[in-house]
Amino acid sequence: MKELHCIVPGCQWHTRHDTEAEIIRRATEHLRETHGETVIREHMLDTIKANIQPEKGKAA
Ligand SMILES: [Zn+2]
Repeated sequence: MKELHCIVPGCQWHTRHDTEAEIIRRATEHLRETHGETVIREHMLDTIKANIQPEKGKAA
């Protein structure tokens, strides 16, 4: 399992999934719905990918 906390400072949203692709999909959906980001830019994807981490308490 991998997890991601929202890249927007102060936002408590987070998600967990086995695959990076699904986490990115959920994160972009969250950015659209919650933060009004209608266009997900390349640098946002890079930031999302950089923030995906192994679930706490487990080895990578
Ligand atoms: Zn958020």
